[in-house]
Amino acid sequence: MSAGIEALFTSALGLRPPWLVQDVKLDTGKRRIDFEIGCGEARLSCPACGTVEQPIHDRLRRSWRHLDFFQFEAWLHCEVPRVACSGCGKTTQVAVPWARPGSGFTAAFEALALALCRDLPVRQAAELLRCADKQLWRRIEFYVQQARALETLAGVQIVGIDETSLRRGQHYITVVHDLDAKRLLFANEGRDHQTVVEFAQDLRAHGGDPAEVRHVCMDMSAAYAKGVGLALPQAQISYDRFHVVSMAIEAMDQVRRQEMAQEAHAVRSALGADDRRPLKQLLWGMRRNPQGWSRRQLDAMHWLQRSALKSARAWRLKMALREVYAAARAHNSVGQAAADLRAWLSWARRCRLEPFKKLATTLKERFEAVVRGMVDHRSNAFVEAMNGLLQQAKRAARGFRTSRNFIAIAYLRMSKLKHLPVSPFVPAATK
Ligand SMILES: [Zn+2]
Repeated sequence: MSAGIEALFTSALGLRPPWLVQDVKLDTGKRRIDFEIGCGEARLSCPACGTVEQPIHDRLRRSWRHLDFFQFEAWLHCEVPRVACSGCGKTTQVAVPWARPGSGFTAAFEALALALCRDLPVRQAAELLRCADKQLWRRIEFYVQQARALETLAGVQIVGIDETSLRRGQHYITVVHDLDAKRLLFANEGRDHQTVVEFAQDLRAHGGDPAEVRHVCMDMSAAYAKGVGLALPQAQISYDRFHVVSMAIEAMDQVRRQEMAQEAHAVRSALGADDRRPLKQLLWGMRRNPQGWSRRQLDAMHWLQRSALKSARAWRLKMALREVYAAARAHNSVGQAAADLRAWLSWARRCRLEPFKKLATTLKERFEAVVRGMVDHRSNAFVEAMNGLLQQAKRAARGFRTSRNFIAIAYLRMSKLKHLPVSPFVPAATK
């Protein structure tokens, strides 16, 4: 290439003395551009101790993938000097300004990769960048760890604790959210009381104070309650709508399953099909809200409501509990919510459906915490929003869904980390 091009690319790459582009090779066939970067000084400061004007001992050749230049895959190459220092006696490789030590990507490329992984599944980001997914996962983990180390969690007062699993029923992970700042604070494998203790330790390690946490919104696991008692001594517990309604749906499903094992024949003949379809329509009709019913589900549900089946009673109980929550939201009164819940509990205790009697006992034992959760609308909405984000994080890790990867991508997307590299394509003014 002509002289002058090297100077142009030296400035396009943002290089400053002693670094400069010495050669540019463009391969239009391979759509690839290679920059040879040199170090223009014969003597350098020692990277280990700072002694100036030390001789270069030797040079080690290294290469880095960089951001594409106009759809050309760009690579930087450099014979990186090692300084032989008379001050400390060591021979040390000089750090290059465009990449962190040990990485085969430039810092700008890594920042772009990270920005893509916040919005796209990692596999898709890797395809766009034409690199291996594994290379991206390593960097997500590295930068998340680095950013979390610098993060302060001082002032956290209201948290949500929840469990999620990577595969149905296994690989449990506990997540702790800040319900004020609306961000993920902590994620770790396990769902026992120790996981909550670990959260408190992590909070303290980041400048927070477990004794300042005054409110915890969570499900009814005894393990979490024990953990809160041990590690978050000032926290008042509330149970969120999402988990309580899920328990009612589970109780309803138990009633339906038991009953359908005996009544399948009657249901099929009443709904005019001799296969399993009517049973499926009931199953989904009962779980779904009426607005979401399909034509067939609507028919099945109308039939169910006229029947004398236990499933019909179970469904009415579930819907009534939803109503209790909707009314609590509308009235926003603790007294009203407590009265409505008491009425529901009395119905559930008398309903002669074992799963609902059990649920009523569970809710009665935790009555105050359940009522607190009924009027805590912010937390309810947020817990559900966070569940949505967690599902997205799981999808982002598709094909590489280990606990480690999931936790890393959840932190990247949900923690609002302040110390991540900034995408090279964000305008300077907003950096
Ligand atoms: Zn030295």
